[in-house]
Amino acid sequence: MKKIALLILDGLGDRPCNVLHGLTPLQFAYKPNMDRMISEGQGGFMYPVSPGTNTGSDTSHLSLLGYDPRDVYTGRGPFEAMGLGLLMNPGDIAFRANFATVDESGTVIDRRAGRISEGTEALAKAISMEIEGYSFRVRPGVEHRAALVVSGPDLSDKISDSDPHEAGKRVQEIHAIDGSGKKTADLVNRYLKEAGRILNAHGVNLKRKKEGLKPANALLLRGVGKAPLLKPFHEKYGMKGSCIAGIPLIRGIGHLAGLSIVYDERMTGSYDSDYDLKVKKAISVLENEDFVIINFKATDVAGHDGDAFRKVEVIEKVDRAIAPLLSLAKSTVIAITGDHSTPCEMKEHSGDPLPLLVFSDGIRTDFCSYFDERHTIMGSLRLASGDLMQYLLALSGRAEKYGA
Ligand SMILES: [Zn+2]
Repeated sequence: MKKIALLILDGLGDRPCNVLHGLTPLQFAYKPNMDRMISEGQGGFMYPVSPGTNTGSDTSHLSLLGYDPRDVYTGRGPFEAMGLGLLMNPGDIAFRANFATVDESGTVIDRRAGRISEGTEALAKAISMEIEGYSFRVRPGVEHRAALVVSGPDLSDKISDSDPHEAGKRVQEIHAIDGSGKKTADLVNRYLKEAGRILNAHGVNLKRKKEGLKPANALLLRGVGKAPLLKPFHEKYGMKGSCIAGIPLIRGIGHLAGLSIVYDERMTGSYDSDYDLKVKKAISVLENEDFVIINFKATDVAGHDGDAFRKVEVIEKVDRAIAPLLSLAKSTVIAITGDHSTPCEMKEHSGDPLPLLVFSDGIRTDFCSYFDERHTIMGSLRLASGDLMQYLLALSGRAEKYGA
């Protein structure tokens, strides 16, 4: 049996770019390693979830790992919390939250606490706590935004918001929407009371009051969602695996699926990452485990920024970094693709299919010798992202026999 390495260049797919004389960044880039892998292996394209689906990074990564988002996706709430770096386990609940200003009677003065920009890190830390075996973790986002994750047994997402969604109204008591929500509603109300007490007395807010700024003395909660219940990866595939990603969202999804998380501050997330380090870590993961997924985010960021030349540069850097993987062909099936397209001229995700290559010793080959949106049409593969894992299992000798 072989091992599996799945490399995702986020937002990889593109459309013709004017500044590249009508080529896509992949067509324009010098990427001898990827071209060699596709020449000696298989090429083709992959639909994100299904043809034409314009996926987010969350739904597409779920699909790439073989969890159909159409069955398991529970909405953006939990994924936004994961995006802020809050790891969630199946069954945890997450809220979108605002730091807000309320008066003594509990009436909201400002839902955004004067668009507070400093001190939210300390406030979030101060109101992260345990109550009766349930853990409450808060992470700040941009300005007044934050997320709250609650972990513990038997939590329900059938509860209402505390956010009245308008200044001048009173903070709402959270109530159960159906019978299953009663215990969770009581628990979160208790937490909010305690958090309000801590926020009111916190140094950050005392200082804000002194300076005539609105204190962030309440946390308003809305949009509760439950983390999807995913069958653990090792049970689903009989493989132990790891996830290597710079951005918290992808690490969150990996964790939710039961993969080990490999992270290092040098993998700086959105803009650029230490590509060599990620590949080195992947190689060491594969010494002890059977599966690794690596996400390179910088291609997607270049697409959103509409910077075709930067996207080319990132592709070339990743190509240089993956050179050591070529020597793993005997023991490993390597797949390279994207999670969705982020065409530079759109600066947004699109539902275009993704170029895909699969490389390993002894597999069939086809007529594809360049890894880009156009040449992969001459390749042999036509897959939806949800079928990729099964295909890689088959190539690695891990697929169970179907029938007698
Ligand atoms: Zn993405």
